[in-house]
Amino acid sequence: MDHFRRSTLNYFSAGGLDRATLLRPRDEWLHERLADPATRIIPVWQSRNLFEGDNVPRPVLLSPAQLRAGGFDCAEAILLGTYAEVAYFALDLVGDEASLSPLIPSGAGFRELRDAGPLLEANAGSMLAYARAITYWHVRHRYCGDCGAATRAAEGGHLRVCSDAACAQKHFPRTDPAIIVLVLHQAANGGEERCLLGRQVGWPETLYSAVAGFVEPGESLEDAVVREVAEETGIAVTAAHYCSSQPWPFPSAIMLGFTAIAGNDVIARHDQELADARWFTRGEIVAGLGSRQLRVARRVSIAYRLLEDWFDAGNLGPLLRYLPD
Ligand SMILES: [Zn+2]
Repeated sequence: MDHFRRSTLNYFSAGGLDRATLLRPRDEWLHERLADPATRIIPVWQSRNLFEGDNVPRPVLLSPAQLRAGGFDCAEAILLGTYAEVAYFALDLVGDEASLSPLIPSGAGFRELRDAGPLLEANAGSMLAYARAITYWHVRHRYCGDCGAATRAAEGGHLRVCSDAACAQKHFPRTDPAIIVLVLHQAANGGEERCLLGRQVGWPETLYSAVAGFVEPGESLEDAVVREVAEETGIAVTAAHYCSSQPWPFPSAIMLGFTAIAGNDVIARHDQELADARWFTRGEIVAGLGSRQLRVARRVSIAYRLLEDWFDAGNLGPLLRYLPD
């Protein structure tokens, strides 16, 4: 399977949305879309998305007229793109919960995307992730990092420009690269292949996941893999293989998934990020899940996908079969 197909299997990744980059600078087109009753706006409030329905959450999308009737200005709406000839925008709502009530249908409410994500249709999940990520960037870039003057949004919300004419610095939306890596070890005596999972400080006692960390300035992704694994577990990585990526707007990362080969298997935790790290065979994962002594990363995460891809290549069948209900 190629990287593109692998990535589209990750939650929040599989969007059919046309990002319409060439239309972003066309103010007249943007104004027309915000006057078009067919246009849909994804409301975001305090980084939460609006859902209705309990067991199967459905995103609530609003028309520009609904937002205006509720007293919200659509001029700051951010163009996400077009899908089936409908324009989609995101709007960060500022106000207390009571001021939002005219917008919220009966039984609907603002919820964390991370909780609702696995239950969403892929296209919807990816659009909500995009809305959450870009509104988060706007809220935190109201002032110029160069001179401190206020910034204003431009190009459909894909740029902020410093309002000081002498500076006029352009600020583009950012995403923070983070690597996540499933380290594998094959004993020289032909023993069973094992994967390395760690439990972060503060996590539940039984929850284990792949090693992850942010890529530092001036660092390649592969160097970040080697450094993070060494810092957190003392394991020296001898090879790294890229698998797939996943937008992870909690709040603003992109996760870059790798597998890596361990040159040794003696674990030594050098930083204080992990409370524990262990090697697991596939059989030990099955036993741990069965006895409830082990929990793995949620299915919404690329950490789960990396583990699942490795596990399913063994002879115990699909990992999904062993997950508790
Ligand atoms: Zn400036």
